[in-house]
Order: sequence, then structure tokens, then C-alpha cells
Amino acid sequence: MSSPALLMRLVASAYSIAERAGTIVRKVMSGGDLGIVIKSGIDDLQTQADRLVQQSICSSLARSFPRVTIIGEEDLPSQDVEEELIETGQHEEILKISCPSQYTSIKEDELVVWVDPLDGTKEYTEGLLDHVTVLIGIAYEGKAIAGVINQPYYNYEAGDNATLGRTIWGVLGIGAFGFQLQEVPDGKHIVITTRSHSNKLVTDCVAAMNPDKVVRVGGAGNKIIHLIEGHASAYVFASPGCKKWDTCAPEAILHAVGGKMTDIHGNSFQYNKEVKHMNSAGILATLKNFDYYASRVPKSVKQALVP
Ligand code: AMP
Ligand code: MG
Ligand code: MG
Repeated sequence: MSSPALLMRLVASAYSIAERAGTIVRKVMSGGDLGIVIKSGIDDLQTQADRLVQQSICSSLARSFPRVTIIGEEDLPSQDVEEELIETGQHEEILKISCPSQYTSIKEDELVVWVDPLDGTKEYTEGLLDHVTVLIGIAYEGKAIAGVINQPYYNYEAGDNATLGRTIWGVLGIGAFGFQLQEVPDGKHIVITTRSHSNKLVTDCVAAMNPDKVVRVGGAGNKIIHLIEGHASAYVFASPGCKKWDTCAPEAILHAVGGKMTDIHGNSFQYNKEVKHMNSAGILATLKNFDYYASRVPKSVKQALVP
């Protein structure tokens, strides 16, 4: 058999790197000192876990894939990264899967990796641990084509025998794995949105969806997991605030199972390296029935959110 294509090697590495990231997230929490720094405001925080995980992911990827562009959320001073943060493993099962033909000849310098070392930092500091995810998204020709999500505290309330943490991954043309795909029953509208970055536009737009239920949880990664596991039917966030590293991996995984993520106008996100980081026109994502939710976004909300 010929050696695996670059994309499959990158996803296999990202899987192992995301698992290492999950152990770092748990270790910082159990160490007791989160080292919280306020970034743009009291709802925009950085902890020692955000910093260490970004160093770990970016340095590990750069060592194995030196010509890939890697963009991480945190602005960190350049410094030598401790060797114990470097992960060189590759998930064997992913290496065995053949690469979709449209991606077999991709070269390193054509790929952009968007890294959110810890998504749901606010919730991490508040002890809402299963809201936290680590996001590694892979883009080619401006499109999110593959993603890995580690959820370090999956199962943390399930008792001593349950395995703590999990890793979900997906590639367009292959599918997504590491969870049970489920849909919300037809006709039931469960809207999921932010719990810590709300405002009037966000609540107006959620109300316009005519929801049977509204779920408020932290994290873009966590909200996409709720969609693909059948706990919510639409992720609605009519506000600036989310960035490309929040949406790249979740979008790739959602699209790999047939869902759709766009801004609140229905425009696709672009992930080329020059793109503006902020998703200024919010997020609308569903596993199915996208058009129903898109049609209910109020004109006033659309007018307020310029892409
Ligand atoms: P949330 O749904 O509030 O957990 O937000 C999802 C992601 O977008 C998280 O990484 C947040 O930090 C980020 N985010 C959303 N709104 C804001 C905001 N107003 N300021 C800073 N970050 C935000
Ligand atoms: Mg985030
Ligand atoms: Mg983050």
C-alpha cells in the first residue's frame, strides 16, 4: 500500500495532539491554579491551559508539518516550548483510511490549520467542565475540510468506571466519528445558543425561531456536539464574537455528516489564511432543516450584522 496522503497524516496527528491537549486541560485544572488573564473584557479570558495547549498543539503540528500555516487563538510571546508538550503520535486507524480523491494531491503550503486550544474558557473557570473542547480545524482552498474536537471532561459526571474524555473527528467525503449521530425528532425546535455572551440581538433572533426549548451552554465546539448528538436542532448566535478558530473544526465535522453552518445571512465562512478572524455576522448551524431556521432570522437582525 502506498503511504497515506498528507491530509490523512495531518488528521491522524491532530487526533493524537488533541488527546494530549485534553490531558493538559485536566492537569491544569487539577493543579488548582488556573492563571487567569483578562483579554478584551471580563467575558474574554485566558488561562494557563489555553496557553500551554496552544503551545503544545502549534509546536507539535509545526514540527511534523513545517510548511502548513497554523493560526492559534492566543497571542503568546515566542518562546521555546518544553519537550514534554510535544506530541508526535498519529492515530493508527485514521492512517488506514483512504483519502477522498479530491484531496490526495494537497501540498503542505496549501493547508491552513485553525486552533482554538480551549473553547469555553469562561465555563472552564466556572467549573462547567463538559462545555470545554479543544478545536483543530483544517482548511483547503478557503473551505473547512477536516476537524478534530477533543472534549476533555466528557463523562466526568458518569462515575468512576466511565472513560474520561473523548475525541471526535471528521473529514468531508469520509464522515465523522467518535460519537453516535442522532437527530432531534422532526417538528421539534430546540435552539442552542451562548450562555455567557448574550445580548438583545442574540435573544431576539432565538425568540424568532419559535423554539419549543432554548438550551444555553458554553463553547462553539460543545454546541456542535449537541447538534450532531440530537440534543439541539439549531445553533443560533446573532452577534459578532466567534472567530474562525471557533468555527473551522466544528463546521468540518458538521458538514461531514450532512449538516450546514453559515453566518446568520446564510453566507459560507472562508478559512484562507488572509481572512478576517471575527465571524462578524454570527452563526447559524443545523444538522437538518437549515432553511426553516434561515427563513426565520428577522430582517432587523440581518441589518444589524454586517458580514
Ligand atoms: P459562547 O457560545 O459564548 O461560548 O461563544 C463561543 C465562542 O465564541 C467562545 O470561544 C467565545 O469565547 C467566543 N465568543 C463569543 N462571543 C464573544 C464575545 N462577545 N467576546 C469574546 N469571545 C466571544
Ligand atoms: Mg473558542
Ligand atoms: Mg479559546
